Order: sequence, then C-alpha cells, then structure tokens
Amino acid sequence: MTNLLPEMAEIWQQTLNWQPTVQQQEQFQRLYELILEGNRQLNLTRITDPQEFWEKHLWDSLRGIAPLLSENLSPTFPNIIDIGTGAGFPGVPVAMTVPNCTITLLDSTQKKITFIDDILLSKLALTNAKTLVGRAEEIGQHPQHRLAYDIALIRAVGAASVCAEYTLPLLKQGGLAIIYRGNWTDDETTALQNAVKLLGGVIESIEQFTTPLSHSIRHCVYLRKVAITPIDFPRAIGVPTQKPL
Ligand code: SAH
Repeated sequence: MTNLLPEMAEIWQQTLNWQPTVQQQEQFQRLYELILEGNRQLNLTRITDPQEFWEKHLWDSLRGIAPLLSENLSPTFPNIIDIGTGAGFPGVPVAMTVPNCTITLLDSTQKKITFIDDILLSKLALTNAKTLVGRAEEIGQHPQHRLAYDIALIRAVGAASVCAEYTLPLLKQGGLAIIYRGNWTDDETTALQNAVKLLGGVIESIEQFTTPLSHSIRHCVYLRKVAITPIDFPRAIGVPTQKPL
C-alpha cells in the first residue's frame, strides 16, 4: 500500500492539544483507503493525495470541533448531526474521535449515503454513527429531528445564512452550530447577524486559523441557539438558497 497517511503527532498536539490513539490512526488510514476505493465508482472527493487528505479531510474536520476532543469540555453523550456530509466529512472523523458521541450523517444524495452505510460504517465498525437521506429543509421540520441535537456541523454546503437556516432548527436550546468556511469577511458577519437573529441564535465566535501544511486560511463560525426557532424555518425545499435570509 503506497498511499500511507502521515501521522503528524506533533502537529495534532500543537494545533489541537490532542493526538490520535494507535487505533484511531489505523481507522484514519482505513478511512482513507476506503474513500480512494469508493472514488473509482463514485465521485466522492478530488482530494486523494495523502498529505492533502490528512490536512483537508482529517485535520480540518477535527479543527472545527477541537474543544469537544477533550472529555471535560464536551457535553456528556453529545448528539451530533452533520448536514450535507457528502463522503462523510466532517462527520466520520468526528464519530471516530469525540468521546461518547452519537452522530447522524445527513445528505440528500442517496448514493453517497449508501456508500457511507455499506462501506464506511460497516468496514470501520462505527456503531455510533448512522445515516439519513433527506434535505435539511424537511429534516428540520421533522419532529424526530427538530430540537434534537446538541451540535450541528456543516461544511461546504452553501452560504452562511443558508447554513444557519439548516442547522439552528435542529438544535436543542443551548446547542451549538459549527459552520466550516474558507474565507470570511466582516461584511459576511453583518449579513449573517440578521439571519441568525431571526432563527433564534447568536454568533458566539468566529475563529480564523491557518492549516498546518498548505498554510491556507480557514474559518469556523460558531452559532449558539439561545431562543426558539419560529416554525416557519427552515422554509420549503430550495427556498433557503433561492431567497437567503
Ligand atoms: N460536507 C462534505 C460535502 C460537501 S458537498 C465535505 O465538506 O466534504 C455538499 C453536500 O451537501 C453534497 O453531498 C450534497 O448532496 C449535500 N446537500 C446540499 N444541499 C443539501 C440539503 N439541502 N440537504 C441535505 N444535503 C444537502
């Protein structure tokens, strides 16, 4: 096997104050191999180089939830949802590393969810993760899912206000939405403020960081649910993207 992931123990330690166990490192490697295999049939990701995979899929996924990697900072038994998970990011690395979490991996594309179910979850024996096919707009109105999660993750799914409309209805009061972004500007903060207010949230913090290998700039926007989300949200399928709040 020539595609060997780097370990980067020191970088994990310096940047996240955390290191994978031997077992987690083995799971990362297996995940990488399964994604490469899956890529032959499905268009899962263009990131196939081992260093790039480590940085953009593993490190980036975990950077957003860094506080949760420590047992004392994570809610006990957090119930997490990853919206628009694609090939399982950030949700699958999160399932492997956050202590005692359960995670729901949601995507509207059946074939991606089938891959996650039949290949990733079964071969990696991830019993704390389950999948869900559907649109965030309908799942957010479903009684089984609305108000059900401690943490909602969303990466590369749409504009920030769209991400806010997809995530906040699913959260319990006091829950946290984590929006993974590349670039971020003050104007985007201003625009997002209005949407978040309508949805019963506040912008708790915005973190900027530099990725450890390619030194690119990334951001995570953290939204806290502090009030009730009006039942009008999320709006019908397609409306959040067509008419962003
Ligand atoms: N989060 C992954 C994939 C991003 S691509 C990553 O960062 O690598 C965006 C994914 O979101 C696609 O798989 C698409 O099917 C899904 N998606 C887009 N709109 C959605 C919606 N309204 N509800 C659920 N999934 C959605």
